[in-house]
Amino acid sequence: MTDTATGSPSGPGRPRAGVAALPAYVPGKNTKQVEDEHQIAEAIKLASNENPLPPLPSVVEAVAEAARGLNRYADHRATAVRARLAEVIGVAEESVTVGCGSSALLQQVLLSYVDPGDEVVYPWRSFEVYPIYTQLVAGRSIQVPLDDDFAVDVDAVISAVTADTKVVMVATPNNPTGTALPNGALRRLLEAVPPSVIVVADEAYREFVGPDIDDPVDLLADHPHLVITRTLSKAHGLAGLRVGYALGHPEVISSIDKTQIPFAVNALAQAGALAVLDPDADEEIRRRATAIVSERRRVFDALHAAGWSIPATEANFVWLPLGAATADVAVGLERAGVVTRPFAGEGVRVTIGTAAENDRFLAALADVAPSPS
Ligand SMILES: *Cc1c(COP(=O)(O)O)cnc(C)c1O
Repeated sequence: MTDTATGSPSGPGRPRAGVAALPAYVPGKNTKQVEDEHQIAEAIKLASNENPLPPLPSVVEAVAEAARGLNRYADHRATAVRARLAEVIGVAEESVTVGCGSSALLQQVLLSYVDPGDEVVYPWRSFEVYPIYTQLVAGRSIQVPLDDDFAVDVDAVISAVTADTKVVMVATPNNPTGTALPNGALRRLLEAVPPSVIVVADEAYREFVGPDIDDPVDLLADHPHLVITRTLSKAHGLAGLRVGYALGHPEVISSIDKTQIPFAVNALAQAGALAVLDPDADEEIRRRATAIVSERRRVFDALHAAGWSIPATEANFVWLPLGAATADVAVGLERAGVVTRPFAGEGVRVTIGTAAENDRFLAALADVAPSPS
């Protein structure tokens, strides 16, 4: 008998052992799947931390216009997007690169810096691609448990770094728990780790972070081993277009660029990115992010009032640490037409949507899990 899932010797091709052993990436379920599964209508998706609002009309127009030129390859270096990002963020153009979503850039960091057997240190639970990408490059995952408040334990991360560590990756805010590194923590990490170790601050949710939390861009000048990754997928509402960016020392950026697939940031993505980064779009994007933050506060307060003890969140989602009840609660919410992202045995991540969507979630949760532990 052959086991095609793991790629036995008699199967078609012989996948690398590390690849055969990989779990498949589990994307959030879409509403159609859930509607069919439970025979319901009008399900809402709060599963993938997307922006609930459609893209700005100016972005749609720019992408449609760019479609007229699809017979040509795009600019491989996405020069105009880099230049615009450099201007917006206030760094040199050589300190910016763009990728096919920031997840691609995270993979490029590992492709560029990690040899087989090298260690990659990251807190856990965190973004699911970290263990997958590490295994893809045959690196060794060193997972550092979150603390009792579901936050990153920076001292434990520092202690986990050894002479074999090539990369440290920290999502701040952390996905799926929403907690952000407190001020000073990233600097402490950068100072404790030798400059020969790349430290990635994965800031996919930067735009939702409170103004009292420092901007790590200020740390770039003194810490050449820092790489900051951000994305246009979340606050900017372009998840389907696939544009992320990385900020770092020019030499590091140049190494990351070497492992990029040709034309990874396609022509439509570049056009959409330029449109959303236009000064005219900026105010509306900020307004939308602010609205999500105030909805997050409302949802958090409502959960708190209902007796839930959940971690402080600086992202566009909340984390319900349900433990063994996770699957039951997630299925109950699905039956009520609310699609969330369960992590078996740990908890449920719920994206902040529109006010109406959030009300539906709160009402459904009150039915499904009226008495949180
Ligand atoms: C969503 C997310 C990303 C990046 O998403 P892209 O769409 O690939 O840009 C990166 N890191 C974390 C922690 C995320 O949650």
